[in-house]
Amino acid sequence: MNLAHLLARAARVFPERAALAFGEREICSYGELSRRAAVIGGSLRDLVGLRAGDRVALFMANCPQYLELLYAVWHAGLVAVPVNHKLHPREVAFILDDSAASLLFVAGDPGDLAEPARLWAESAPGLRILSVDDPGYRQLLCGEPIAVVPRAPDDLAWLFYTSGTTGQPKGVMLSQRNLLAMTLSYFPDVDQAMASDSILYAAPMSHGAGMYNFAHVLVGARHVVPESGGFDPREIVALSQRFRGVSLFAAPTMVRRLVDHVAEHGADCSGIKTIVYGGGPMYLADIQRALAVLGDRLVQIYGQGESPMTITALSRAHLADRGHARYLERIASVGVAHSVVEVIVADADGQSLPTGATGEVLVRGETVMQGYWRNPEATAATLRDGWLHTGDVGSLDDDGFLTLKDRSRDVIISGGANIYPREVEEILLQHAAVAEVSVVGRPSAEWGEDVVAFVVCRPGVSLASEELDRLCLESIARFKRPKEYFFVAALPKNNYGKVLKTELRRQWKPSGEN
Ligand code: AMP
Repeated sequence: MNLAHLLARAARVFPERAALAFGEREICSYGELSRRAAVIGGSLRDLVGLRAGDRVALFMANCPQYLELLYAVWHAGLVAVPVNHKLHPREVAFILDDSAASLLFVAGDPGDLAEPARLWAESAPGLRILSVDDPGYRQLLCGEPIAVVPRAPDDLAWLFYTSGTTGQPKGVMLSQRNLLAMTLSYFPDVDQAMASDSILYAAPMSHGAGMYNFAHVLVGARHVVPESGGFDPREIVALSQRFRGVSLFAAPTMVRRLVDHVAEHGADCSGIKTIVYGGGPMYLADIQRALAVLGDRLVQIYGQGESPMTITALSRAHLADRGHARYLERIASVGVAHSVVEVIVADADGQSLPTGATGEVLVRGETVMQGYWRNPEATAATLRDGWLHTGDVGSLDDDGFLTLKDRSRDVIISGGANIYPREVEEILLQHAAVAEVSVVGRPSAEWGEDVVAFVVCRPGVSLASEELDRLCLESIARFKRPKEYFFVAALPKNNYGKVLKTELRRQWKPSGEN
């Protein structure tokens, strides 16, 4: 078993069909894409000297080479480590070191990367770095195609780095089998992908959007990488008019931006087939407006790196069933369990709770990760008695619809990206004038949540927000730094001295809510 067989099969069955477009330009067929992956795979083995199981990291924005590289890596029996391209070079260094990556693919002028490359070489000795825009990359395409290297179902395919609650990212081990199960459940639970469709990568391919490639390779659909490399509503509408039958994954913030664009310009979105949204909570008013403006084109999924894209789904039919007695409750939920997993709500001992009761969401099934890379303690804490403990709190109704209440961990989700407060707190605490700090999420109509920090200064000193902002910019990705700082005399704490984040957040909650 090897995911590379999906592309090899597509190339045999429909070699001439358009596989990849960069913007409006079609750049290769399935036959060509598969051949390129098989040739690069051969070079990774024979020129670079990589062996089955070695890790290959990808640190680049969405680009046309992304897909061929993923498949080349699997073709050669290697493990892909796609890294969020918005991370700070220091954060990337941690991932390279932790995953013990042998090779790193980047994009752009290698000269511009001289500084980070020095940092990365220090943390991962022996690491080779190659830019897809470098002549060296073309050399990888000069050899002969090799046969797909066989892999076992439980062999590692994708090492997915998520931030840990302690601030250190953890490598979620996703096997060949995990990703195949995720792919097969796309069809009954999310959407009927078809050959005439196009999947548009408007969100980072290093995350869920990239994982949706498999279902579309299976049916021989077109893969479209926007020229902007990111999420631009105008470009999405234009590409959907060009290709028709366009599907995309989008975080709730992106959906909101698309809805605003369509509403403001009266844009024709008839070329968009399906928008799968998820990765963070979407407010009820927002989903109602999205349905009104975009029509019945939406499907919601709830997942996490540890069970990628696959815990529950709220189907197009449920979102369209406006006459249902509990319609509003349903569209505010995250839907029902994907067909390849079991989902329960459990108490602190892992015992299943009756419907209506609130508890932690647990998941069991073929998509659940193998564990955290080289981190048995974290694995043991998260995979217990055969269940994935998601850290999310919710309740199930009689029909199996899951409503998420809150996250038991204090993760902040801003624009669909997870930000772990502890990581930001550790940076702020490096400032000599900071005595204590607590970082929380503040509701934001635009981003879902904004990062804000409560700071207690050391006696007799004062501090400007700009200084703290500079400190963050030196160490962490821009999107993680606080949007606002509140300088306070003390932080609210419980009897054990633990900071009460709920107290800090309470001021933004409607009265009556905890
Ligand atoms: P990640 O591992 O980065 O994909 O983040 C996963 C977390 O995002 C989940 O554990 C949830 O807390 C949150 N999440 C994902 N999908 C949804 C959704 N549809 N609605 C609400 N929260 C979600």
